Amino acid sequence: MNCIFCDIVSGRSDASVVHEDDDVMAFMDIRPWTSGHLLVVPKRHASGLADLDPGDGAAVFAVGQRIATALRHGPMRAQGVNLFLADGIAAGQEVFHVHLHVVPRTAGDGFGLRGMPKSPSRVALDQTAGVIRSSLT
Ligand code: 5GP
Ligand code: ZN
Repeated sequence: MNCIFCDIVSGRSDASVVHEDDDVMAFMDIRPWTSGHLLVVPKRHASGLADLDPGDGAAVFAVGQRIATALRHGPMRAQGVNLFLADGIAAGQEVFHVHLHVVPRTAGDGFGLRGMPKSPSRVALDQTAGVIRSSLT
């Protein structure tokens, strides 16, 4: 299987590593959105959320949370942090090995997600909630 993040995890490709344990690795994104932007990945390959072991997902989030604290309170002095995960092409996923983006933020850094918030009625919200609720497995 050809996977650039598996190559990094196995040491076949270089990365600037911030954290490594038995299950998770975190390294700098080579095309950062802001200075300090990094990626947290499970060591076991999962192309998307559907095949990600929930324990690995929890471990990835825990490391992301820990790194966010370091970014906020360490020398990077971030004023805020965004966590972002793209699952699927329509969501902007380009590398098909699950990864959590950890993006340090400062006021006026120019980074942002563009969205067009709508104002659905409570009835519409309840109906959508029901559809999603009925598909929970
Ligand atoms: P996605 O769009 O899939 O959520 O994000 C993929 C991210 O992986 C991008 O931000 C991109 O810059 C980063 N990336 C792509 N190839 C490499 C690589 O070889 N090494 C590292 N460290 N990051 C990569
Ligand atoms: Zn992989």
